[in-house]
Amino acid sequence: MSSADARAVHLRAETAEGLRPVVHGYLVIVAAYFAFETLFYRVPGDPGFVPASSFATVVLCGWLFRLTRGARDLRRLDLAGHALNLMLVIDTLVDIHLQYNSIKLLYFALLLPIFAASGARMRVAAPGSVASMILFLVFAWRHEGARFGDYVWVGGTALLTGLSIGGILRAALLRVVRAQVTTECHRQQAQRLADCDALTGLANRRSFFRHAEAVLAAETPFALALIDLDGFKPVNDTYGHGVGDDLLVVVAERLREVCGDDGFPARMGGDEFAIVLTGACDDAALHAFGARLCQSLNETYVLGPVATTISASVGFVRGDAGLTVSQCLERADYALYFAKQNLRGAPVIFSARHETEMSNFSLVDHTLRAADLDRELSIVFQPQVDVVQNRTVAFEALARWHGAALGDVAPDIFIRAAERSGLITDITLKLLRKTLKHMAAWPEHVRVSFNLSARDLRSALSIHNICAAIRDSGVDPRRIELEITETAMLTDFDQACEALGVLKALGCRVAIDDFGEGYSSFGYIHRLPVDKIKIDRTFVTQLVRHGSAIKIIKTIIDLCRNLELDCVIEGVETRAELNKLMQVRARYVQGYLFARPMPAEAVLPYLETEMPRALAAE
Ligand code: C2E
Ligand code: MG
Ligand code: MG
Repeated sequence: MSSADARAVHLRAETAEGLRPVVHGYLVIVAAYFAFETLFYRVPGDPGFVPASSFATVVLCGWLFRLTRGARDLRRLDLAGHALNLMLVIDTLVDIHLQYNSIKLLYFALLLPIFAASGARMRVAAPGSVASMILFLVFAWRHEGARFGDYVWVGGTALLTGLSIGGILRAALLRVVRAQVTTECHRQQAQRLADCDALTGLANRRSFFRHAEAVLAAETPFALALIDLDGFKPVNDTYGHGVGDDLLVVVAERLREVCGDDGFPARMGGDEFAIVLTGACDDAALHAFGARLCQSLNETYVLGPVATTISASVGFVRGDAGLTVSQCLERADYALYFAKQNLRGAPVIFSARHETEMSNFSLVDHTLRAADLDRELSIVFQPQVDVVQNRTVAFEALARWHGAALGDVAPDIFIRAAERSGLITDITLKLLRKTLKHMAAWPEHVRVSFNLSARDLRSALSIHNICAAIRDSGVDPRRIELEITETAMLTDFDQACEALGVLKALGCRVAIDDFGEGYSSFGYIHRLPVDKIKIDRTFVTQLVRHGSAIKIIKTIIDLCRNLELDCVIEGVETRAELNKLMQVRARYVQGYLFARPMPAEAVLPYLETEMPRALAAE
């Protein structure tokens, strides 16, 4: 329904609301009058028609009252008015017909102002008034022939007075109602604008919170979903903001469709959406809903001449007693973060394990902010070995944090906490400076692989700082390899490419870390300024158990060879694993079999004694 139609419907309802008391008052007064007449008014020679019609009027009033009670329907009020007016005309007609008396003609004249004042609309007042006038004139013509002219004047004046008063009253009433409706429409529109996301028409963050609070207060089972679009920014950057906006509108339509009656979708800002879900909220139902959601959002978007695809990550949390909406959202956000890191395109439900992890995270985050990072952070180095030439070609720099309060904290934990809080860019810079300082003392042929986070690539300032740190150190940039994970690349492909381009222009090499953990797509590798691929440890752990793992590794090694990329296999722990890898001509290997990560001071002694040790070890 258009807003003009909605306003018209609203206006009619409000007009009915305003006029109902008038019609009801009319019914009550008429009923009271005719009840009195039923009991006490008699016409000589009447066999009982007058009391009968009076009584019928009282009954009709009662029925019409019921018919119009609570009705915001003008047509019902009109019907009641017509019916009662007709009844009054009949009553008067019966009375005057039974016993004509010139004074009784006044009844017809009196009906005119009554109809005019009491009808819901002029279309009710007018026919009754005209009918009374005609009857008035007919009786005057028949019985008052000589003074008919006077009666015409009286009747005409009564008709004019009645219709004028009725018209003026209704115009005034309608004006008030119209003003009220306009004010109400403006208020509702303002409310809608304040509660709505202007682009997609979905609820905005504010009304999402209000709705979620209401569901929480109602104590019905519910779940919250947070949705983040993967690959939206590249669409925006490549095709422009207009197409980006169109895409968000289609996303909103798809969300509405998937939610149906069970979900309240909202746009939280940018490419982040949320849903309050009521109905079945068990794991199976949430997984099924999440799968439908992801599938729908993954479908191709045809936006004018542009056809594109994106994917979505979803984090769910069940509304738990004792949690506020903000706390629920915080947990859904954690699940979303988890979904983005680990299972892109698959929904993640916040669990008890996440709860423990999250509280550890916030403790780590808190402590990290207050820590003396220059003193507490250190770097260890793990060799990457060329098994053909039997020598170490590079070391991977791995961060260590020994906090005064928490002791040793695994890098998986504190790096992720720092990534979430944004502290990572600072930490990266500190670690890089330390690494460069160590490298200055090592032989020129030894390279170092240094891990970067997605966040580092996202800011031009941090890339600038990284380049400056490398330049200032005096270390040859060609000795530095920067590792970046697949998932980090895909968060914002174009921006990552641009940042890596800047680092490559400086002379650094680039490696894709943990390849195979995420999308494992060669589709984009050739579009990246990459020199090396590091195959994820999970393939090596499956090497002995699953025959397919070695086939996959072989395929990746062959592809790397064709693309002239180096290929490092991570996490080799046993001789058996190494033997299998050597059968498929793996060349560069990193793992505990050769050495665990070692402090910087141990690097030179290790290099001096390494030669035959690695291959002899088991
Ligand atoms: P990564 O970059 O994939 O590093 C390899 C991880 O595998 C290291 O864990 C290393 O100690 C471990 N590893 C190496 N060989 C073996 C093996 O044979 N068996 C097993 N089980 N593990 C092996 P670590 O040092 O705990 O680092 C974990 C992750 O933390 C790293 O994975 C990296 O993603 C991140 N990280 C570490 N240092 C940094 C850093 O300076 N910056 C950033 N952004 N991330 C870092
Ligand atoms: Mg790495
Ligand atoms: Mg790795």
